[in-house]
Amino acid sequence: MYDFIILGGGILGMSTAMQLKQTYPDRRMLLVEKEPAPAYHQTGRNSGVIHAGVYYPPGSRKAQFCQAGNRATREFCDAHGVDYEIRGKLLVACNEPEVQRMRMLWERTGANGLEREWLGADALREREPAISGISGILVPSSGIVDYAAVARAMAAEFERLGGDIRYNTDVTDIVERRQEVVVRSRRDEFNTRYLVTCSGLMADRVVRMLGKTPGFSICPFRGEYFRLAERHADVVNHLIYPIPDPSMPFLGVHLTPMIDGSITVGPNAVLALKREGYRWRDISPRDLAAMLADPGIRGVLRANLKSGLVEMKNSLHRKGYLALVQKYCPEITLEDLQPCPAGVRAQAVTRDGRLVDDFLFVNTPRTVNVGNAPSPAATSALPIGAHIVEQVKRQAGDA
Ligand SMILES: Cc1cc2nc3c(=O)[nH]c(=O)nc-3n(C[C@H](O)[C@H](O)[C@H](O)COP(=O)(O)OP(=O)(O)OC[C@H]3O[C@@H](n4cnc5c(N)ncnc54)[C@H](O)[C@@H]3O)c2cc1C
Repeated sequence: MYDFIILGGGILGMSTAMQLKQTYPDRRMLLVEKEPAPAYHQTGRNSGVIHAGVYYPPGSRKAQFCQAGNRATREFCDAHGVDYEIRGKLLVACNEPEVQRMRMLWERTGANGLEREWLGADALREREPAISGISGILVPSSGIVDYAAVARAMAAEFERLGGDIRYNTDVTDIVERRQEVVVRSRRDEFNTRYLVTCSGLMADRVVRMLGKTPGFSICPFRGEYFRLAERHADVVNHLIYPIPDPSMPFLGVHLTPMIDGSITVGPNAVLALKREGYRWRDISPRDLAAMLADPGIRGVLRANLKSGLVEMKNSLHRKGYLALVQKYCPEITLEDLQPCPAGVRAQAVTRDGRLVDDFLFVNTPRTVNVGNAPSPAATSALPIGAHIVEQVKRQAGDA
């Protein structure tokens, strides 16, 4: 019998496992992951940004955990020898309507207590000669890191403290009883006093395994990137972001220096035809049928039909994608856009067709389940893990 099982070897599962073991060093713990290594899905396929907390409504979990996570990620990386860089982020407005929207972000960054600076066109050009915009906001505390490396360091720490990890273990069934939870894969059966699940793109299915109706469905939005040709390795100094389009739920195509020295352009947001489908040709009839049968997902697709079709067109025709980045970085050409692996975002959608904005947890007496943890959840992984530990302590009567 285990004391705790953690399902999911992404950054949230690893962070939670590590902090549970730090809290309860003598308890038996197991982390199970269906893939052969950590960080196979969202954690290993993202922009690698340590967000500062620009966009999130003050008081939301996202605002709170992101800011705490920005500090905690740096401290964790310092302590465990993981490379990161604090580059600062520049939000760039290219026309007057964008300047108006940028003013709202200025207010929000102020309300969130972030250090920031308003830049006019000259100051913008001085800091970023390749970027054309009429004004910008500089947020110095944004950084970059390889989240897969962070997750691996957390896994190593969990194991060093005595936790067990089983890869290649796809959980297919969960039964919660009064005194225990039974976790089954095709080959194994494990018993545990408490279970935490951080299953990303499978979050709704895992909650369903518990016999609960989740109240949300996961809609997989693929984010496709390009890598810039090497001659552009120094084209920008900061992370360069457009002013988000209010009709789009994501941040817009940005220019992001990566910790390996390359620069990515992206991500866009297209509906993935398979939950873990990283290319157009990855299609799952099961996932597709479930999406089409889901009233909430149908509602989101209907409400975002126009922007969805534009995203799809730009995904299939690089020229459209190029235009998004040329708007603020005119020197990038079609030949500069080189292939780069995509990621798929796990976005929870309610049954009445709303995107769940904040982080969401679903608890039962012996389980804590992460329901919605899109960006900035990698930045926020340490505070989210700490939050889960507090919930488990309460369930165990130790709080
Ligand atoms: C394109 C993109 C860009 C992003 N950019 C950023 C960014 O710059 N900064 C930021 O902070 N966040 C970013 N994010 C968000 C961030 O990557 C995710 O929020 C974070 O990685 C979520 O971690 P996770 O552990 O919940 O999920 P995941 O990393 O997806 O891990 C879930 C794990 O659960 C496992 N699993 C699922 N079901 C089962 C099962 N039945 N049995 C066993 N194992 C199972 C999966 O195999 C997987 O390994 C981005 C995400 C995407 C997709």
